[in-house]
Amino acid sequence: MIFFDFFLQGDAKLNPDSLPVLNEQTHLDFICHRCGSCCSHIRGFLGEDEKKFFEEYAYGKLPLVQLIPIERTSFPLWDWEAKRFQEGAKELNIDSKIIPSRGVFDQKEQRTIIFTFSIDSDSCTFLHNGQCRIYDKRGFICKLFPFQKSPFLKTKESFSIHSLFGGCPSITHIIPHVPKESAQMVRFLHEHFGETFLNAVQHDIVTEWANEMMIMLMKKNVLKPIMNYPYDLLMKKISSSPFIDLTEFLVEKAIYSREQMDRIISDFDHGVQAHQRIKEAIEDDFHSSDEGIRSQE
Ligand code: SF4
Ligand code: SF4
Repeated sequence: MIFFDFFLQGDAKLNPDSLPVLNEQTHLDFICHRCGSCCSHIRGFLGEDEKKFFEEYAYGKLPLVQLIPIERTSFPLWDWEAKRFQEGAKELNIDSKIIPSRGVFDQKEQRTIIFTFSIDSDSCTFLHNGQCRIYDKRGFICKLFPFQKSPFLKTKESFSIHSLFGGCPSITHIIPHVPKESAQMVRFLHEHFGETFLNAVQHDIVTEWANEMMIMLMKKNVLKPIMNYPYDLLMKKISSSPFIDLTEFLVEKAIYSREQMDRIISDFDHGVQAHQRIKEAIEDDFHSSDEGIRSQE
């Protein structure tokens, strides 16, 4: 079950590394022209289908609850990313405006486990004179734009190439060339979007991981969320309850030791699972086309 999928943000292209065979750069390579639009308009990024999903389910029907109105919600930050943003804000002496945006209310302990945070502002609070002031600490969502999600993310929505991307003026000439067949699409996106694509895939893997954690915690009866509860009453409960970040909760409940949790976050940061998933998709394509050629011989 997908409890949430949503995403944006901006970054320049970086050189891909250690992944299979890359073509020479072509005019189809994604180059961020740093127009700043994705950092200066960070609210209202949800597509119509996602909005509908949230309106229907995220206000008390499913375990993961939308804690702020959709129109106020900006891009999602995982708790370890929100901490880095808050450290950056402290160093810069600015108000980051970071607030919890999605969480699960646990009936057992009457507290809220926070899954994602958002910046409560129209423009990113770290954008200054067209520059990112926390470039080294920026989140996945900053590194994956113009993607909104990767082709690996399983959702109930019907898939379209356009749904992969957010509005970015630097991709309009590339989109018509994206292959429709999935393995070829992965190869193309890897070749032409490099690290940006890697981050989109990794972010979706983290989303899947967070969903799996929630399901596992519920199955093990570590977490007992309220569901199908009147939203206003639920928000009253949530606002007067203590909050704990998801990763802190996992350590507190001994699902992971602190060292294991740090290692998991470090692997996420380095795109370890995304490297593997892209490699497998490209190798599968290579083997199936190799078999195809052999069967024609
Ligand atoms: S909208 Fe596109 S071109 Fe503009 S800064 Fe974002 S990624 Fe770069
Ligand atoms: S943190 Fe930096 S890269 Fe991310 S949205 Fe803000 S200004 Fe843009």
